Amino acid sequence: MLSIKDLKVNINEKEILKGLDLEIKEGEIHALMGVNGAGKSTLVKTLSAHYDCEVTGGTITYKKKDLLDLEVSERANEGIFMSFQNPVEVPGVNNSYFLKTAINEKKAYAGEKEIDAMEFLKHVKEETAKYNLDKKLLQRDLNDGFSGGEKKRNELIQLLLLNPDLIMLDEIDSGLDVDAIKTVANVINGMLDGKKSVLMITHYDRLLELIKPDYVHILNDGKIVKTGDYNLALELDEKGFEGIGIKDENK
Ligand code: ADP
Ligand code: MG
Ligand code: MG
Repeated sequence: MLSIKDLKVNINEKEILKGLDLEIKEGEIHALMGVNGAGKSTLVKTLSAHYDCEVTGGTITYKKKDLLDLEVSERANEGIFMSFQNPVEVPGVNNSYFLKTAINEKKAYAGEKEIDAMEFLKHVKEETAKYNLDKKLLQRDLNDGFSGGEKKRNELIQLLLLNPDLIMLDEIDSGLDVDAIKTVANVINGMLDGKKSVLMITHYDRLLELIKPDYVHILNDGKIVKTGDYNLALELDEKGFEGIGIKDENK
């Protein structure tokens, strides 16, 4: 599904990713871990075409297409979903309108029939009820004044309704209480169908206990320096980065 080779990315003229390789196949769950500032967010931001990130080398192939040729909206329409570490607040843009528009753009892109307001509401009601999510968030402006937890729940509603093929989560568990982390895991696990792939960034074992990754990667100084299975996350949890031989380049 996704193949990244020798990826080099600059932010503000500074090289952050320094030749990163990563392969994610259909249906696989990958966890990405690493010390603060290692470049984890830079990787997922690059994948979602964030304007901060300037690709200076390497290739990214997604569903056999050159991802770097696709614009932000095309990437979303091709089934890439990204939950940002700090979702932006967009006052003046109704959340429900925003989501329905995104769904219909994706449908139009795929040559499918668009959904009307009634169908949209029915769909929202069904999906939010399954996971006990508060659909009232949709009546407000996008992320405007949302608490940290509300932003994350809103992302889950978007995720459910957009039904992407590649789900990228950047520290979706940070600042969430145990129950909210369980909700995140229920949503993700409920969506997984053996075809969707996940790339999740986390610092904590708790989320990985609930969404068991097939692979755990450690990113350090702009490269993936270690790959293992779930046991690598357990080892990291026990010993810390230094304990498994990862040097924090920022220290
Ligand atoms: P991580 O997510 O692993 O904590 P990031 O990818 O956010 O790390 O950041 C990697 C490096 O890029 C850090 O040194 C950070 O300070 C730098 N960086 C990220 N965004 C910007 C920016 N907008 N301007 C300047 N430097 C940035
Ligand atoms: Mg960070
Ligand atoms: Mg980050």
